[in-house]
Amino acid sequence: MRAKDRILVVGAGLSGAVIARELAQEGFQVEVIDARDHVAGNCHTQRDPDTGVMVHVYGPHIFHTDDMEVWDYVNGFQTFRPYKNRVKTVSGGQVYSLPINLHTINQFFGTCFRPDEARAFVETQADTSITEPRTFEEQALRFVGRDLYAAFFEGYTRKQWGCPPADLPAAILKRLPVRFNYEDDYFSHAHQGMPEDGYTAMVDNILDHPDITVKLKTRFDRTQSDGFAHVFYSGPLDGYFDYGHGRLGYRTLDFERFTYQGDYQGCAVMNYADLAVPYTRITEHKHFSPWEAHEGSVCYREFSRACGPDDIPYYPIRLVEEKALLADYAALAERETDVTFVGRLGTYRYLDMDVTIREALDTARLYLERRATGGVMPAFLHAPL
Ligand code: FAD
Ligand code: UDP
Repeated sequence: MRAKDRILVVGAGLSGAVIARELAQEGFQVEVIDARDHVAGNCHTQRDPDTGVMVHVYGPHIFHTDDMEVWDYVNGFQTFRPYKNRVKTVSGGQVYSLPINLHTINQFFGTCFRPDEARAFVETQADTSITEPRTFEEQALRFVGRDLYAAFFEGYTRKQWGCPPADLPAAILKRLPVRFNYEDDYFSHAHQGMPEDGYTAMVDNILDHPDITVKLKTRFDRTQSDGFAHVFYSGPLDGYFDYGHGRLGYRTLDFERFTYQGDYQGCAVMNYADLAVPYTRITEHKHFSPWEAHEGSVCYREFSRACGPDDIPYYPIRLVEEKALLADYAALAERETDVTFVGRLGTYRYLDMDVTIREALDTARLYLERRATGGVMPAFLHAPL
């Protein structure tokens, strides 16, 4: 390996920052560029100047993981405060606890079930004729039955994804557990928390290395790859190829910001399950920092819609149509040399932050290994399909 070889990293989100840091520590000169005017990608946090509240600018981000190495990694760059996500949802004029748990079930059916009774009752609601659920709707009908599905999932999912739940894969719902006890922690991971000074401060610390330079407000085009030994690209896969075969489908989000004096909703995230309410959820940011005290409050009403060419791509849709196009782009990417596609946009996959960091660490390590052995670095560590 020739020390001080130059590496280009496109995107200063978690993927790009972690790869940059790992390679800079091994003696590479790393240049990180990002089209935005800040680092941290979609995890970006910023203190609101009027209220002092730490705002999750691109929507709520809660760190949760079972990966001990990743947990140690993030704690090396920022103090994490304990934080559990306890989400509520409004359905039919009542507030319920999410994910569906014994409290939700008893409140919804007006019962006093113990765990075994609730499990047996919900099984009577379930559509047991569905043996292998393929779609979101089948998964819901099989495991919670029509009433709970209609109350908590059907409307929200239509709003979030812009299509009937029968068109979506079962995997989306599998992210949410159904619990027959009163545990209302949204996530089941062993390690959960919130960075004390926000995610952007954490990413700033990751990028703070003498061999890393960061250029913001700099959009990548392929001519910029010249002079670099390798490019790690965390922008949109189709964008790398100038959308030549068409655009991969994404959902984008609009945030309607409003302020309030005091406590607007009493929790960080309130979902709105009914289709008649046009937004999916309201986030009240100060509740993400319960160790801070702020009289003023900043809230986001969140609306989901199809992503246009000038919008920020948030959620990859990955329906049948996208998968065919994705195969085309993946084949083009495989033909590139000295470029590796990483992260949420580069591999067109839904990735939580901990998985993003895990994959970035693995990517940097593989690159170091391939450099040491003279092997070729692949276009993808994790193929999009
Ligand atoms: P990104 O954060 O998207 O970073 C990519 C960067 O590349 C961006 O800064 C972008 O500006 C830049 N870029 C793109 N194209 C170009 C170009 N052509 N030239 C230059 N720069 C470019 N995960 C959790 O673990 N917990 C949560 O609670 C959670 N909540 C989420 C809520 C929402 C609404 C969303 C959308 C995601 C959430 N996630 C959550 C996932 C989390 O945001 C991702 O895991 C993480 O942001 C992925 O990092 P990344 O670096 O791969 O991508
Ligand atoms: N979901 C729902 N009702 C809710 C919350 C979630 O129907 O109140 C569905 C929705 O389709 C969502 C999926 O479950 O996309 C996964 O939920 P999660 O909270 O993981 O959504 P994300 O973090 O992707 O926004």
